[in-house]
Amino acid sequence: MPISVYRVKKVQTPPQIQVGSFKIAFLTDGLWLNDGGCMFGVVPRELWKKDHPPDDQNRIRLNLTCPLIMRGREAVLVDTGIGNRLRDVERKIFGHQDGWLPDGLKALGMEAGDITHVVLSHLHFDHCGGVVRRRGEGGFVAAFPRARYFVQRGEIEVAGDSTNERMRAAYRHAAECLGPLAGLIEPLRGDTTIIPGVQALVTGGHTVDHQVVLVSDGPDAFVHLADIVPTRSHMKGPWNQAYDLDPLTTMARKAEYLARAAAHRWWISFAHDDQVFTAHVRKDGGKLGLSDMVGVPREYQSRQPIGGEMSGSSAAGKSL
Ligand SMILES: [Zn+2]
Repeated sequence: MPISVYRVKKVQTPPQIQVGSFKIAFLTDGLWLNDGGCMFGVVPRELWKKDHPPDDQNRIRLNLTCPLIMRGREAVLVDTGIGNRLRDVERKIFGHQDGWLPDGLKALGMEAGDITHVVLSHLHFDHCGGVVRRRGEGGFVAAFPRARYFVQRGEIEVAGDSTNERMRAAYRHAAECLGPLAGLIEPLRGDTTIIPGVQALVTGGHTVDHQVVLVSDGPDAFVHLADIVPTRSHMKGPWNQAYDLDPLTTMARKAEYLARAAAHRWWISFAHDDQVFTAHVRKDGGKLGLSDMVGVPREYQSRQPIGGEMSGSSAAGKSL
């Protein structure tokens, strides 16, 4: 079977919202594919397949949303997608070619050197892969050479711990990503103000030290929920990823954040929703819904063949 990946001729200018004095642009590192069963954990396929139609390998379409928070000269990038470091076999499994972040920045009139801060929600490959760029044969360099990089200290420790089999699999890419950043990473211990008005807040759940990013200025606020609410469908309490180390904590934290977002009219965004970059949360009776949705451009949603054969591997068991 010929394989195909999400590719576009030209990355669109990323949509932007205003949150107080901050501008937030919604960059994507591209669309990709991952096993639907892994993404929805205990939820039966019958329930998720309508909103997330699986392909013949049970993979669903996902995004790699990376909000860019800007004020004055400060430009804080939240997560970095997959980047261009995957080997060919992984590109086939995940339907992803080189990441689109550099093109998104260009469309904003910016370049990699303009990024002043990078906040990583956690160190899984689909969030930290873009911190490095592959240059020539096997060499990697920091993708954002002037940035300060922030991640929880516990994530770095777990990523370097080779004794736990499950953890080891989830972080096997980490050395390749973190090596070129030596000296640029500032490990965090708990909740931290990155710049005034932008906070990294630990949630746990997906990983022990998973963090979200909250932007607030006066009454206006925005929160990137990263992998505690990876798609719009995960706003439902019991809909959680099979990857979550502690789904009960994920449920508790997302309920808190979504309730605050609904009560105070915060913008929210998700790590992986293929349709919605950001939206307001509204409460209809007991149910949460979205309004004022800023969508992912339609042009991004068609796949193009790249030649070669599918390996037949499934993404199941990969840790995100
Ligand atoms: Zn993820």
